[in-house]
Amino acid sequence: MKRLNLVGQKFGRLSVVSYAGVANNGNARWNCVCDCGNECVVDGYRLRKGMTTSCGCYRREYMKKAIMANPKTRAQMGQRGQFSRTEGVNVSAATKLRITNRSGVIGVSFDRQTSKWNARLFLKGKLVLNKQFVDFKDAVAARKTAEQQYLAPILQRTKKSND
Ligand SMILES: [Zn+2]
Repeated sequence: MKRLNLVGQKFGRLSVVSYAGVANNGNARWNCVCDCGNECVVDGYRLRKGMTTSCGCYRREYMKKAIMANPKTRAQMGQRGQFSRTEGVNVSAATKLRITNRSGVIGVSFDRQTSKWNARLFLKGKLVLNKQFVDFKDAVAARKTAEQQYLAPILQRTKKSND
């Protein structure tokens, strides 16, 4: 059987640059360069049948678009982004009231999904308090207790400039 020479031909995003030997299944394999710049070795049969048309970047792009087109997934990604931003909060930022905080109490926020109050305290990137309460008062109390336990010793050192 005469082997086809695919060098110089283009299949989808792949340009065939050279012959890469015979695969275990007897098919010729070809060194290809993808439009994205990646190099890959592709089975000649798969190339000619249009089964392989990129180094894999097409599929990755397609999946990414599918994810971004889904509003639910996008919302989840947004939440995760916010969460990680909160984690790095330092003491001075933690004691400033955030405008988006509906409760009016630092570190206490209402969770619409569970209809409960979250009491949280981040310290040096760690969540030292993360509890949910039915009662707003309880959540505030938990936050205050945690503040005294974790923040007070640090705040005392910096208090002079704040008062
Ligand atoms: Zn590619």
